[in-house]
Amino acid sequence: MSGARASLRQLAALLERGEASAVELASDCLARISASDLNAFIDVQPELTLAQARAADTRRARGERGALLGVPLAHKDICVTRGWRSTAGSKMLERYVSPFDATVVERLAAAGAVCVGKTNCDEFAMGGSNEHSHFGPVRNPWDRAAIPGGSSGGSAAAVAAGLAPAATGTDTGGSIRQPAAMCGVTGLKPTYGRVSRHGMIAYASSLDQGGAIAVTAEDCATLLGAMAGFDARDSTSVERPPEDFARELGRSIEGLRIGVPREFFGEGLSADVRAAVEAALAQYRALGAVLTEISLPQTELAIPAYYVIAPAEASSNLSRFDGVRYGHRAERYEDLHDMYCRTRAEGFGAEVRRRVLVGTYVLSHGYYDAYYLQAQKLRRLIADDFRRVFETVDLVAGPVSPTVAWDIGSIVDDPVSNYLADIYTLPASLAGLPGMSVPAGFGRGGRPVGLQLIGRWFDEARLVNAAHCFQQVTDWHLRRPA
Ligand code: GLN
Repeated sequence: MSGARASLRQLAALLERGEASAVELASDCLARISASDLNAFIDVQPELTLAQARAADTRRARGERGALLGVPLAHKDICVTRGWRSTAGSKMLERYVSPFDATVVERLAAAGAVCVGKTNCDEFAMGGSNEHSHFGPVRNPWDRAAIPGGSSGGSAAAVAAGLAPAATGTDTGGSIRQPAAMCGVTGLKPTYGRVSRHGMIAYASSLDQGGAIAVTAEDCATLLGAMAGFDARDSTSVERPPEDFARELGRSIEGLRIGVPREFFGEGLSADVRAAVEAALAQYRALGAVLTEISLPQTELAIPAYYVIAPAEASSNLSRFDGVRYGHRAERYEDLHDMYCRTRAEGFGAEVRRRVLVGTYVLSHGYYDAYYLQAQKLRRLIADDFRRVFETVDLVAGPVSPTVAWDIGSIVDDPVSNYLADIYTLPASLAGLPGMSVPAGFGRGGRPVGLQLIGRWFDEARLVNAAHCFQQVTDWHLRRPA
């Protein structure tokens, strides 16, 4: 029936022809999840999944149709869900069950997608390796010694291993694109404001954006179609008419102008990733795209800007975890202040504590102007870089990550090395631009490499089609780990 790594489109066709039921597809995923050793899931509730699947089958039996009606889907455990726990990968929320569904969860459920469980992630989405999860690291299905990337590592590993055909993710500074690249699957981070943040446990609110991880670019477009749209419950949600993100699929990319930033091919880029990305760019040339070298001169400044702004917002967002409103509370304490301190010291892991400290520092009196305001100015310059290049090119292309996935544990104690690895994903995040990661081959140790495509603001349809055209002439996205 449904082989591992079937696309949503293929599964919907099976449902459509009556060759499989939603219950069968969901049961298949549940069986693979329970047999898996990847630690990709934090919470699985088979009865809830099967109830949703039965409901989808009933809707189909009544004649309802839809690209997502009855297909299985996993949610990153940053999106809150009724029924399943919502932990954000943190001890703080280890046993938390939300009284409501995140908007993305609600919308995908309304479209008939069946939730197969909650995927593991770095704590509060802070990290790029999935090693900062209270629930333990996720393993990369291509090589169990390797990280899957992060913070949406569970989602990417689950799709790569065929535990779920697609999953939601969130991307603050690369958390959809980077794990998608490292696991050899397709990831789409939409323009900031496209997808409601309501019910997505906040990390850095001016950057956080929900998106999709799937086998194909086409599936990402389908998922985005269901997820996107104005939501009054998110004050930065953008009001735009509904769009079909798949409307450009199949249109020739002859003449498409792709800018290749020279700053993305500097010293830190490893030879194996460079070779795979250059081969992918050659493929685009063969498809008729016009490639030109461009410059995004502020690229290097993305790291200091991001690692001031994101922790600043995180320190503010995480102040709600005080042991009173919800989540963990220390058992023993002397007074109220002591209760706060112990609760937060016990409930947060090392990386989260580090960021809260940095964030509080850069926001404090006397440092705000020196760090936070400066970082905001850099952010503007970075966005201006893109504004300028998008006057002459339609897309920007380059690597997602300077290296393939590294070994679990190898740099976990070295935060700066981890932060530096975000160099190619942070600029689009700071500018709020849509970006994708498209499987583009393999590097050292047979570990996957992703090609990053960055589009103009709200130009997801063109972005997705550029990825789709590449996937029509390559099969990297269809390869499966042994
Ligand atoms: N790796 C980056 C960080 O640690 C990005 C994380 C994300 O996008 N959620 O902040």
